[in-house]
Amino acid sequence: MSGTSEPECIFCRIVRGEIPARKVYEDNEMLAFHDINPVAPMHFMVIPKRHITSLGEAAAEDAGVLGRMLAMTGRLAREQGSPEGFRTIVNTGHIGRQDVMHVHIHVIGGPDQLPHMVPRA
Ligand code: AMP
Ligand code: ZN
Repeated sequence: MSGTSEPECIFCRIVRGEIPARKVYEDNEMLAFHDINPVAPMHFMVIPKRHITSLGEAAAEDAGVLGRMLAMTGRLAREQGSPEGFRTIVNTGHIGRQDVMHVHIHVIGGPDQLPHMVPRA
């Protein structure tokens, strides 16, 4: 389920300004900032300001902001230097290896083509 702000959540703390972040975009309901440990030349993430734990917990009431976050990725990727495409990843829960339990869309790209998504066995 979704709440408003979680005291100990690292991304809620970024939203509240308690932890610094290199911001890419902000409006009343979402925030985008560079990943502290980028895996490609462009790597930022988009989060809702309101605490939503994961896609696994998302409910119908979260659909609007989640959709608007996705719809913002193309514009932000163009602005951040990956105009010819990019990859979005939403790691979810234990199986998806989600480390930060505040839903986030990774937006990854750069001048060069990315490796294939999940290596085939
Ligand atoms: P995930 O495994 O999808 O939960 O990814 C969490 C991501 O958050 C990782 O890529 C981290 O590098 C990133 N991260 C953790 N703490 C911070 C922070 N304070 N500022 C920016 N990115 C962070
Ligand atoms: Zn949070």
